[in-house]
Amino acid sequence: MAHKRRGTLFVVSGPAGVGKGTLNKMLFDEFGEQLAFSVSATTRAPRPGEIDGKHYFFISRQEFENRIANNDFLEYAQFAGNCYGTPRSYVESVLDDGKNVLLEIEVQGASQVMARMPECVSIFVLPPSFEELERRLRGRATETEEKIVQRLAAARGELECAQRYKYRIVNGGDLQAAYQELRGIYLAETHRTD
Ligand code: 5GP
Repeated sequence: MAHKRRGTLFVVSGPAGVGKGTLNKMLFDEFGEQLAFSVSATTRAPRPGEIDGKHYFFISRQEFENRIANNDFLEYAQFAGNCYGTPRSYVESVLDDGKNVLLEIEVQGASQVMARMPECVSIFVLPPSFEELERRLRGRATETEEKIVQRLAAARGELECAQRYKYRIVNGGDLQAAYQELRGIYLAETHRTD
């Protein structure tokens, strides 16, 4: 007889423009009954189409600092001039409930989670090359040149952190192939006996 197990925590990182959001959404579309996405808090302004409480909880810097002081975040970090944090109580309660949780977070926050919860499954999504990443990021055209340059610099630093992760996936343009890799990791890791 199967007994109820604690959920598995997945941590997915990768530079902006690598397609991690799309891959994670595909995973959610297939496994959404057992998998929850954690909605982060951020001090960044919403982009067109982003909904408060769905994509992020958009909060002020003061509110962000209050939450740090209350120990409300499982992890938090600064990225491209804004703060981002994962709500601890949500993640803990979903895992206790036996569901899996996916965090889509940048590398500093991911390091904090790996240190605090070493059993987490960390996955890094890589672009086939830096040039391709730049092309994709510019193609998105949702950002100013200054922000794009900032994000490209962050991406260079992030790529150097890839080896800290348990798994890596290259999204080389064939989204289905990259998804099959992510799906394989998800299925294997959610069937472990330990
Ligand atoms: P964006 O501004 O493009 O939505 O996100 C910028 C970066 O912050 C992305 O790498 C995203 O994964 C990351 N991020 C989003 N939420 C969190 C969070 O709660 N904590 C950390 N550390 N990074 C986050």
